[in-house]
Amino acid sequence: TEEILAVNNLHVSFKTQTGTVTAIRGVNFKLNKGETLAIVGESGSGKSVTAKTIMRLLPKHNTLISEGDITYEGRDLLNLSLSDMQKVRGSEIAMVFQDPMTSLNPTMRIGKQIMEGLLKHQHLSKKVAKQKALEMLELVGIPNAKERLEAYPHQFSGGMRQRVVIAMALACNPRILIADEPTTALDVTIQAQILQLMKDLQEKMDTAIILITHDLGVVANMADRVAVMYAGEIVEQGTLDEIFYQPQHPYTLGLLRSMPNLSASRSEPLIPIPGSPPDLATLGTGCPFAARCPYTMKVCHDFLPEHTHLNESHTVMCWLQDARTPLTHIPEEVGS
Ligand code: SF4
Ligand code: MG
Repeated sequence: TEEILAVNNLHVSFKTQTGTVTAIRGVNFKLNKGETLAIVGESGSGKSVTAKTIMRLLPKHNTLISEGDITYEGRDLLNLSLSDMQKVRGSEIAMVFQDPMTSLNPTMRIGKQIMEGLLKHQHLSKKVAKQKALEMLELVGIPNAKERLEAYPHQFSGGMRQRVVIAMALACNPRILIADEPTTALDVTIQAQILQLMKDLQEKMDTAIILITHDLGVVANMADRVAVMYAGEIVEQGTLDEIFYQPQHPYTLGLLRSMPNLSASRSEPLIPIPGSPPDLATLGTGCPFAARCPYTMKVCHDFLPEHTHLNESHTVMCWLQDARTPLTHIPEEVGS
């Protein structure tokens, strides 16, 4: 496996009217060539902020990246000049959002929009760019692609619009595609089609994907590896099998038990995680999950757990897995 992106010890805060809110607190992960890494968690856990930090899309005036770096091809993306970053954006790392209209201009024909990126990044002639735009529309399964080049975004259905956005994102053959809840707004059948499309294209183009979702069903279908986020931290990270079959963090366990389709197949009762995520503005020193965790010990309230490496691929941030926690402190029902 060849690593193409590494996020190291990333800390991101926002200045608000009532003070500074830390949204990301020491996030670490790597992305390998051609793989799909899913980032899962409830809304507000920092998934989108992480993605937007990689793309440098957060508003400058109130965002503070206090620590960390993001290494892509030996360069720290956080230190690139704006013009170098613009070259990376689109041509090497592309992003697809939940709402396709985030990426589309409602007043411009689709063909022209796909051509724009190609003309900017690949210095193609107009004629070649147009041919490539057509090929991309065909590749993502838009019927009558030739005529549809001349259509405007509102003339497409939601699912077709997301296909257009994927065509645009992949037109320059980026090495990384970041997809933030790409199918959440679509109905289930269309959702499955779009996910399948992303898988097929990934295989063809060898793109690595960071897939942001709150839906573990989507994760099960798509991911090679999974990072579980909670309150601005990756609390557990591992291969798909490790996360689904050997989850070690109480939050991961809770997520799995609260997923309807997954528990149904295991004929286990559906148990929602009690409580709600903590207010990031008033987080204390201990484990951010302590208030909702069924296994909370005293140490959990006092100290932030560290990342324990269970093996080469599987890490967890929980005192239950930390060798320094005395066994006598660990509740008996853990794992039972
Ligand atoms: Fe629960 Fe403590 Fe582990 Fe946090 S560190 S998840 S509170 S057992
Ligand atoms: Mg989000």
